[in-house]
Amino acid sequence: MDKPRYLTKSRFKLGMECPTKLFYTKKKEYLDSKMDDSFLAALAEGGFQVGELAKLYHPGGHDITTLDYEEAENQTNDLLAQEKVTIYEPAIKFENLFIRVDVLVKNKDHFELIEVKAKSYGGEDDPILNKNGTVKAGWKPYLFDIAFQRYVLRGAHPNARIDSYLMLADKNSSCPVDGLNQKFRIVRDESNQKGIKVSNTLTEEDLASEILIKVPVDEIIDQIMEDGTFEEQIKYLAEAYEKDNKLISPIGGHCAKCEFNCSAEDEEQGFKNGFKECWKQSLGWSDEDFEESNVLEVWSFGRKSQLIAEDRIKFSDLVEADFEPVTDGKPGISAKERKWLQVEKVQTNDETPFLDKDGLKLEMDKWTFPLHFIDFETSMVAIPFNKGRRPYEAIAFQFSHHIVNEDGSVEHVGEYLNTTPGEFPNYEFLREFKRQLEHDEGTIFRYSPHENTFLNHIYRQLREDPSEIDDRDGLCDFIKTITTSSSSMAETWEGDRNMVDLWHLVKRYYYDPATRGSNSIKAVLPAILNSSDFLKEKYSKPIYGSEGGIKSLNFIKQTWLEEKDGNVVDPYKKLPKMFQDVSDKNLDLLTDDDELANGGAALTAYGRMQFSEMSETERNELANALLRYCELDTLAMVMIYEAWREWIKR
Ligand code: SF4
Repeated sequence: MDKPRYLTKSRFKLGMECPTKLFYTKKKEYLDSKMDDSFLAALAEGGFQVGELAKLYHPGGHDITTLDYEEAENQTNDLLAQEKVTIYEPAIKFENLFIRVDVLVKNKDHFELIEVKAKSYGGEDDPILNKNGTVKAGWKPYLFDIAFQRYVLRGAHPNARIDSYLMLADKNSSCPVDGLNQKFRIVRDESNQKGIKVSNTLTEEDLASEILIKVPVDEIIDQIMEDGTFEEQIKYLAEAYEKDNKLISPIGGHCAKCEFNCSAEDEEQGFKNGFKECWKQSLGWSDEDFEESNVLEVWSFGRKSQLIAEDRIKFSDLVEADFEPVTDGKPGISAKERKWLQVEKVQTNDETPFLDKDGLKLEMDKWTFPLHFIDFETSMVAIPFNKGRRPYEAIAFQFSHHIVNEDGSVEHVGEYLNTTPGEFPNYEFLREFKRQLEHDEGTIFRYSPHENTFLNHIYRQLREDPSEIDDRDGLCDFIKTITTSSSSMAETWEGDRNMVDLWHLVKRYYYDPATRGSNSIKAVLPAILNSSDFLKEKYSKPIYGSEGGIKSLNFIKQTWLEEKDGNVVDPYKKLPKMFQDVSDKNLDLLTDDDELANGGAALTAYGRMQFSEMSETERNELANALLRYCELDTLAMVMIYEAWREWIKR
């Protein structure tokens, strides 16, 4: 029997993003590029434990585990016949709407509706509302979600009084005990379903002071529902979904991230492309029209929707004045100049990379050898490792370190990895990092502000830590020499040996049309390997990790550059798979480096090694994979530097 077509929480969220998506969702013929493994997604967010902890803070509840709509609803109604009851995942239906509530506490005619989110709260004035009282953009999906749930619950129980809460990780709380986060483990049951197992050694003391906070949100929900359009929207979406009607939404800049866009290969295999359907319907385009670059590809461009509305969509429709490409007075090209450069290169069929040789040379002349290229892998763990620590503290568990000497020789000189379950790695990480970097005054390169941000986090952790740390001052002083203070720090500084952001240099001095506007290292590396004769010559031999070649800590006689159909094979695709049990699609999503979203795959691997039961062999394999991925990240930075150096020499 077909499942009833109810509007659920996730479908409501999807419909609020774009009503047309409701027509494409969960249909086999339309490919959906969003992560389809919800557990993996939760692991990547680092918040899978939060839901379990929320249940423990509401003890004595009944868990409704069945996924069958009717059965879940019947079980819920049986329990709700009691005067007082707490239910986890109860199923509530009202008309054609259906929700599973995270935690529902009933006491006579009073309901507490609790939605648990793996998101931190606190540490700033009002995290949810803007100064003018409106909801901050980042919080809207969470508030709409719980507003939808309250609407359904109120419809199903019109006489009940409902208090609604978001339950969030409290940044102002501190963990009452050591080792709490190791008491929540990922396990698989007989049917290979993943779930969380709470240790039977959990004590009252573990739960004594809560690290999650219940934030009352009814006033904000009332504000959202005030004008009556929210209810109309629910009905509009629910009816369309029930009847499987396609709602036509205006296309715009938001289509750039539409999950119903798929590749040409997927289409050849018979899948439908929802994105193309929308655009064809709206613009009267044919398949050929999609072959030309369009405004959605322009890097960091705020006028996409406006130009689409003006029907100036393809690069051939755009003119210089759309970008006002003027200098911003700083070295290199401005963001506006870069956007126009991207369009102009396509318009003039110019596939050669742009390099501001003079500008970059001036930068290079400031650098001191040996050059150090570093990359961090980090995580934010919801439940702290140790007593006194806060939820979602920054965890730095891995780095890789390449150097380039003045004679041009390259070495992978160092790395660090700590995935030992229950061990807070940051201080040992920093000690090792300092040990590797403090022997000379060579320039240090990072790719993104991420490493600077994390060193600031560790600085704060060291300063606030009440325990005896003998080398605290030395570690803090070292951080100050190689970073600038983040805006949230009370102290301000700029180190004499402040790290250089290679990502920033890419944006100011270099553009390769093959990257199609992306500055992610995952896009820049294959592009620069294709365009640099120096790199092609050097890395097409098995010199990496070979005697007399380039010293490597994890590779032996590796040939990085191979060509297929006239193009370089992406080096990242040559690495062994990080997870054997994750589909290629989900793995791509985890490793898709969205410029600032650092290392989804690495932090997922870290989460698994911390919280799941795995054999020593599995653990070693995953650790080896992590070491190789991180080594390639810093090698990629070296390659970018080498290609630039050789171009500048000419
Ligand atoms: S292509 Fe645009 S309009 Fe169509 S479903 Fe995706 S986001 Fe909505």
